[in-house]
Amino acid sequence: MPHHPVFLVGAGPGDPELLTLKAVRVLGEADVVLADDLVDASILGYCPQARIIRTGKRGGCRSTPQAFIQRLMLRYARQGKKVVRLKGGDPCIFGRAGEEAHWLRERGVACEVVNGITAGLAAATSCGIPLTMRGMTHGVTLVTAHTEDGRGPNWPALVAGGTTLVIYMSVSTLAATQRQLLASGMPGGMPVAFIENASLATQRQLHTRLADASRDAAAWGLRSPAIIVVGEVAALAQSPHGLLDASSAIGALERQEPTRRANR
Ligand code: SAH
Repeated sequence: MPHHPVFLVGAGPGDPELLTLKAVRVLGEADVVLADDLVDASILGYCPQARIIRTGKRGGCRSTPQAFIQRLMLRYARQGKKVVRLKGGDPCIFGRAGEEAHWLRERGVACEVVNGITAGLAAATSCGIPLTMRGMTHGVTLVTAHTEDGRGPNWPALVAGGTTLVIYMSVSTLAATQRQLLASGMPGGMPVAFIENASLATQRQLHTRLADASRDAAAWGLRSPAIIVVGEVAALAQSPHGLLDASSAIGALERQEPTRRANR
């Protein structure tokens, strides 16, 4: 009997309400769930029947090696088990879905990906930032400065492109990223938003500008997991109580729409 496909499932940013119906169904049918460290414990309530294997480094133990996780998936799949590999956000955004799917398929195991809401999109929305906005930016780029080969993105090209930047895995490399963006010609006044633990009860957000970004983040105690949004749209951030950093937001709005401020 051919075995089931392995499902690479996106758990979204944390809030279980942001799971897809498909993710909930697949979780409910799973025999084994290998859950990444970024997956919030509340999500695991959707697979009470499954054997749950935590593959993360949070909680004190060392990160489970990638090769070991892949071998586990393969072993359970070959036993005829329904295997779910559960990832934070979307499995295809900095989630190794490509390499895991390729590795499994090479060994004769089919793979199906179930999208999730990636942290960058949820983080921006959770504080009222529209990542694209007519008249402000014509696009958005999801990027990380934390690469295995140590070579970062082409920052001058990103700055020249003028899209909103959503930066993942950015906390440890923040000072360097700030330097590179400034050196690539991005203005020091460019609005920046930090969103930590997006969509969870522990969410925090900080709004500043590029020139002060790493200093403010350090003073504020920014910790992983966090998303950084860099771009004019970051000035539009709101909390349920209104504009969080009114001075920088109004400054940015003024540059865009000189009449808007007069109405405040
Ligand atoms: N596949 C995931 C990303 C994994 S890389 C996704 O699509 O979201 C891990 C990085 O994701 C973290 O370093 C952080 O930058 C970001 N991240 C994940 N969950 C987050 C959350 N709840 N709040 C803020 N950032 C988060």
